Formats: sequence, C-alpha cells, structure tokens
Amino acid sequence: MKVRMIIIEGRQIGITGLDEVLEELSRAGKEREESLKNDLLMRLKKLNYIPPAKEKVYALAFLDEYRKLSESKALGGKNKSSKSGETWQGIPREEVPWYPTIRDELCDGCKKCLEFCTFGVYQYDEKSDKVQVIKPFNCVVGCSICALKCKPKAIMFPPLTILEMFRKG
Ligand code: SF4
Ligand code: SF4
Repeated sequence: MKVRMIIIEGRQIGITGLDEVLEELSRAGKEREESLKNDLLMRLKKLNYIPPAKEKVYALAFLDEYRKLSESKALGGKNKSSKSGETWQGIPREEVPWYPTIRDELCDGCKKCLEFCTFGVYQYDEKSDKVQVIKPFNCVVGCSICALKCKPKAIMFPPLTILEMFRKG
C-alpha cells in the first residue's frame, strides 16, 4: 500500500492507502458528498492516525483529492495528477519523502527561507503571517540549506539516512 503526501492546513502529511481508497470509492460510484466524506474518513482512519480534533479538516482534504481524481477521469486522465514526472535515482520524485516541514509555532514569518529557495517550495501566507510549504516535491533531494537560514530553527528535514534506504531499495 502506497503513502501519498497531501497538504493539510499548510503541512504535507503522508496518507497511507489514499490512492487505493479513492479508487475503491470511485469504482463504487458514490456521489453524495456527505456520505463520500464519511466513507473516506472511516476507511482512511483504519490505515492512518488522524487526530480526533482534525477529522473534519482531513475529511475535506480527502474529498478534495477525490474530486481531483474524478476530474482527471472525466478528462480521460489527461491531467492525471500534478506530478512533475521527475525522478530521483529512478524513483518518482513524489515517492521520495524529502522536503522541509515548518513548525508553525516557531516560524516568525521572516521569509528568509522563501527568499533563499529558488525552487518555489515556499509561499508566504498573509493571514497567518507565516511561510508555508506549498510544493514539497520541488525541493532538491538532499538539500537542506534553507534550514540554516532559519534563526528560530522552524524548518525540519528528514535524516539523510532515509535517502540511503532508498538507494539500497
Ligand atoms: S526562515 Fe524560518 S522563521 Fe523565517 S519564514 Fe522561514 S520558516 Fe519561518
Ligand atoms: S532544501 Fe534547498 S531546495 Fe529544498 S526548500 Fe530548502 S533551499 Fe529549497
């Protein structure tokens, strides 16, 4: 079962079995949004930890992914996904879990990371006066320089050893 990253409240979260559950429900042809949302949440809760206080937010994000899948199917898969088609060591980039995560409680909105990175990974959010990760998979695998620019140390990356695991397959 695959893990797919989606953005929920400005954070990228890995959801196990998302594609499989979306396909299942799509094949079942459910149309009522309320029942779809409940089904998505119920099925994905069995495969993932979903904080009880965030269930509604997660359910809306799942529904959004479901809509994208439906639109893609309606277009005959022409915009199958927003995936870049890029690979790292032969692995689709979206399957390599390398990207920054910002700890909102530490971010002071200085924008140093945003100004430094030329890959469009970050975006400033006026409402919260913080920077968010909007395109995690634009991040260059193995790069973590922007974390050094962040004085409050709000930017986190996975350990480099995670890449070794991918190299070894
Ligand atoms: S550098 Fe750090 S504190 Fe400044 S906006 Fe980026 S994440 Fe926030
Ligand atoms: S690690 Fe490098 S590529 Fe990734 S977000 Fe930071 S500066 Fe951009």
